[in-house]
Amino acid sequence: MSDNEYDDDVFDDLELDGDDVFDDIAENELVALERPTKRHKPETLGAENELALGDGDSHLTLAERILSNQFGYKSFRHEQAAAIRQILKGDNVLVIFPTGAGKSLCYQIPAIAFPELDLAEGTREPTKAGVTIVVSPLIALMKDQVDALKKRGIPAESIDSSKKWEELQVIYDALARSQLRILYCAPERLNNEGFVETVKRIPGGIRLLAVDEAHCVSEWGHSFRPDYLKVARFVSEIKAERVICLTATATPKVAEDICKAFSIKPACVFRTTPYRPNLELQAKTVCKEYDHDVGVSLDIMLGFHVKWERDKRFEELFKFLRANPGPTLIYVAMQQQCEIHAKVLAAQGFKAAPFHAGLKTEVKQQVQDDFMSERVDIVCATIAFGMGIDKPNIRNVVHWDLSNTVEEYSQQIGRAGRDGNPSKCMFYLAPSAFYLREVFARGDLPSRTSLGGLVFDISDQALGVSVGGVFKTNHYRQQKDFDIRPSPLSVIYATLELHFGFFRATTPEYSAYKYEPMPSYFRLVKQDKSPAVDAIYKKSKKKVKWYDIDINEAIAYKGAGLNRADIVAKLNQLDQQGHIKLQASGLTNRYILQKALPKTDEDREKVVEKLYKDLTGREKDALQRCREVMGLITGPKCFALSLAQHFGMDLPDGKGKCGHCSFCLTGKPVEPPKLKVTPTTASSIQKVLKATDVRDDPRFLARVAYGIRSPRVTALKLDKSPVFRSMAGHDFEALLAEFTKVCEKKSEE
Ligand code: ADP
Ligand code: MG
Repeated sequence: MSDNEYDDDVFDDLELDGDDVFDDIAENELVALERPTKRHKPETLGAENELALGDGDSHLTLAERILSNQFGYKSFRHEQAAAIRQILKGDNVLVIFPTGAGKSLCYQIPAIAFPELDLAEGTREPTKAGVTIVVSPLIALMKDQVDALKKRGIPAESIDSSKKWEELQVIYDALARSQLRILYCAPERLNNEGFVETVKRIPGGIRLLAVDEAHCVSEWGHSFRPDYLKVARFVSEIKAERVICLTATATPKVAEDICKAFSIKPACVFRTTPYRPNLELQAKTVCKEYDHDVGVSLDIMLGFHVKWERDKRFEELFKFLRANPGPTLIYVAMQQQCEIHAKVLAAQGFKAAPFHAGLKTEVKQQVQDDFMSERVDIVCATIAFGMGIDKPNIRNVVHWDLSNTVEEYSQQIGRAGRDGNPSKCMFYLAPSAFYLREVFARGDLPSRTSLGGLVFDISDQALGVSVGGVFKTNHYRQQKDFDIRPSPLSVIYATLELHFGFFRATTPEYSAYKYEPMPSYFRLVKQDKSPAVDAIYKKSKKKVKWYDIDINEAIAYKGAGLNRADIVAKLNQLDQQGHIKLQASGLTNRYILQKALPKTDEDREKVVEKLYKDLTGREKDALQRCREVMGLITGPKCFALSLAQHFGMDLPDGKGKCGHCSFCLTGKPVEPPKLKVTPTTASSIQKVLKATDVRDDPRFLARVAYGIRSPRVTALKLDKSPVFRSMAGHDFEALLAEFTKVCEKKSEE
């Protein structure tokens, strides 16, 4: 992974909140979190907030009994009771509580309550109790939840890629007998038609579908995930009785998106304020010597050429850390910065460690453990750090760079001071801050040429396939061939699937397998004369330590009537039994054609046009979102109030200010960093043109000059060229205009 790639390109390291993080929070702090209005009366987005009581009271009694019997808790928190009552009544619900506030109980209690309700109301047999499905993006957290539920005697399971075939059969069997109350799965699972079919056949059906981290559904959310868009389709396909969406951060717009996707009434939105009275939100603009030169300032930051000492933020940081000792998180934008910061801080005598998605799992685990047990005081981290962190006494959260979004900032500062004690959040503003965000945002938009190539390629792959048939593409190849990053590529596919309805993603497959045989493998081969084992053995070629297997040849071997699934299943079985170490590669994406893809150039161009408009909008949004962060920090208003208002709320008790943020303390807005834009000259443009003969893509040239990596930039090694980032201080749009002129002239020649 290159250094300036987003950490959230790595799926598993997506910045998400951990569960169970409020375990150690002081109860009075939670009271402070609650709205001053009457308890259990839901705060709503809209006007119609009167709830019909119905038999809500008996439902509530049941819920309270489960709370104390199964979970051992005395009373509900926040709007838990109101949300649960509404679900039991049969409504779809959206719950927006901060991390650790107890969102999980809002679906766990109904899941347990359904069979009891059926019994009391005499509506169903226990064999038709159905199940609650929870869609959650993090396998690790899913496992923790299942273990915790099992300990409490609640039958729960999770279906994920780590499950063996036999384990899955046991789970499916339990589902068929209505013996499971809760089933967790990742959103990707919904692409598996076998899973969807199984779920449809569960006796009693899906009583409740819970969508955890529901902000991923919204294209306005800060971590939109295309696979999440399919959750709504899944709900209607499996005919889920009701839905609960859960998230810690949702702006009114995101909440609206979620409500629209899942038909949630305004009265069924339950939220609590993100306001945390013990957090002192501060900000400081730091720019000196290199004020006007983004290129130099970035070099300093990355420790190249110039010494890091010239970045005045470091001095400020040391002072801050000495004045405010205690566990600290420092958020930076790039992986490389984590390493540099940790080293620089260590040299100053601080106990600091880096954390980012590029580190090995063991290393990340070690850093987390060290931080938890206070062998390390400071973690210098990217957005990847935070999930599952339940350290109550984090005293400081420092933002070295501009956050991507206000939601991200809010979540990250929310990790400070969970014990309710005063904690500081410091935000440094430097001239390079916005540049970095622009590099990220502008790197995601493919050029129109790239997009055209991609759409034509996808259409070509589907040629000759009739509706209902399967065609294959390889995302990895397409990223390289068409110079498109992984995350926009998956957005494009989701758009073609959901908005255009051309196809439907189905389970991907691996096109290549290799394995390392264990001694027992050779013994087994001698004894086991089954066609599959025989074919695998005969059709493998030894490559030093590993054996490559050609699946197609194995299928055809001796006309044994084997199919792909037989071979793959056998390979996996041999792996599970320890006879071989199996490695799959060459992931091929598979799609079921739903309607013919455009055949004529004209029709294809129409699709390209629409996609391009969509993606251009996303780039604008991304830039706008970091401007909002800047606006919040440098605006003429209390930070805490601005933050609450961003989420469509106010401070509790109608307070107008927090009293201890930078604005409240000084009565003045924080001055934004000044950045002088370098005018674009013909000679600097010429230098870039000399370094490469690419003339078919102005956006590509502008990226090289501005310092943005893309698959093609890396493949041509232009990121190692001195012209890379040579025009960082320029206006990107101006660069684009200049290179467009060059390319147009070239194509006229
Ligand atoms: P979230 O998903 O909102 O981040 P969780 O659902 O993981 O939070 O809950 C965090 C912790 O709080 C869990 O250990 C949970 O058991 C506990 N908890 C939830 N509700 C209550 C309650 N009403 N009383 C006491 N503890 C609770
Ligand atoms: Mg949770």
